[in-house]
Amino acid sequence: MTERGKERVWLSLGGNLGGRWENLRRALSLMREKGLEITRKSSLYESEPQGYEAQGRFYNAAAELFTQLSPMQLLRLLQGIESEMGRVRETRWGPRVIDLDILLFGERVISSPELVIPHYALRERSFVLMPLVELEPNLLIPGAGAAARLLPLCPSLGIRKVCGPEEW
Ligand code: AMP
Repeated sequence: MTERGKERVWLSLGGNLGGRWENLRRALSLMREKGLEITRKSSLYESEPQGYEAQGRFYNAAAELFTQLSPMQLLRLLQGIESEMGRVRETRWGPRVIDLDILLFGERVISSPELVIPHYALRERSFVLMPLVELEPNLLIPGAGAAARLLPLCPSLGIRKVCGPEEW
């Protein structure tokens, strides 16, 4: 918790339908419009689809934000943005305009049917870990240790940097 009563949250953003670059930018500006204080974003990365492979390549990024919302309130807000941007939940791991995941919420560990924090992808997805480690090289994941140490353990699966944080 910061002195302003806000907690630091790490988010993952991804999408592989439509204008991928514009969609990630739009998600960040909708978050700002809804009062979230986005302080930093990572470079933009492109990665091969995992899970369900007959689909286009993803754009991925991470962002740091500060909020007074509870984890569930933040989840609802992010799901509202996903719906507003036209995301339809069909195939699990399938194509999507935008996917917004809460990776870490302060130091909290949450395991409820709707919300799991730290997010499971932190342990196995390089396209989630790489942008996060870029932003915060010394980040610790509750229960899993240093984020940077997990990265070489994940399959890299064709991830490449598209552009730096100031270019998107
Ligand atoms: P996905 O299709 O990957 O976006 O998964 C969406 C579902 O994951 C939602 O029904 C959420 O309730 C659930 N979920 C569990 N933990 C998280 C989290 N940390 N961030 C976002 N969604 C989560």
